Amino acid sequence: MRPEDGAYSIVRPGRVTRDGEVPALKILLANDDGYRAEGLRFLREALTGVAPITVVAPDRNCSGASHSLTLEVPLRVQRVDEDTWYVINGTPTDCVHLAITGLFDFEFDMVVSGVNDGANLGDDVLYSGTVAAAIEGRFLGLPTVAVSLVAAAGGGPHFATAARVARELVLRLLARPLHRSMILNVNVPDLPYEALQGFEVTRLGHRHRAKAAVRGLDPRGREIYWVGAAGAGQDAGPGTDFHAVANGFVSVTPLQVDLTRHTALESLRDWLREPAGE
Ligand code: MN
Repeated sequence: MRPEDGAYSIVRPGRVTRDGEVPALKILLANDDGYRAEGLRFLREALTGVAPITVVAPDRNCSGASHSLTLEVPLRVQRVDEDTWYVINGTPTDCVHLAITGLFDFEFDMVVSGVNDGANLGDDVLYSGTVAAAIEGRFLGLPTVAVSLVAAAGGGPHFATAARVARELVLRLLARPLHRSMILNVNVPDLPYEALQGFEVTRLGHRHRAKAAVRGLDPRGREIYWVGAAGAGQDAGPGTDFHAVANGFVSVTPLQVDLTRHTALESLRDWLREPAGE
């Protein structure tokens, strides 16, 4: 079957074996909470059986690492088990970058990142290592998926719910490929699966300014700071990711990497053309 115009086939040219068998899709799992994280284990379990899974994850919690690469120190790769679980002393982006640029002698078809322990709503995506790992997979030419569990007070965490949602989305992507290089940012309410209201396609909302940094003293009397908590949702009305999750829906936001403010190109040209004055 030919994919729709603009869609991308999961079977690449030259990847069909001689006897016509379609090789299995290979999925790379990554996260930013570190290789021991519960959400990653649930995700791996949920996707086992869908496709061959390889995990490449950081050796520690890298939440907030954003899209950073490690360039000044060497990266080391350790195997946790036989051949499907790798740990790197780097960032989430390092993990995916290495995995798709030389760690393996085969190509992956899709990156699934998560399940993050905490929301990646609105402005969070700029700081998120979970989303960064998914974005790094965009070169693969298939949609990549970042999945986060939006913590709620009491009852959770329902990582199993988020992992099951991830499985549903991956199966859907296999059946109906989306336009290439689309990044899906998925936020799942921290609820039992049966309590979910369904899926909602959303845009990113916006948070209030973050809470103040927390100042303290270390045991030797020197001043230290902790980055404060994220602000509450500000632009959080209907249509936003905040609103969907708050109402029990799985939020699915299509992301793109182009940060250009296209609408400002003309006015900025004019601005530069005008004399600046003294
Ligand atoms: Mn995290």
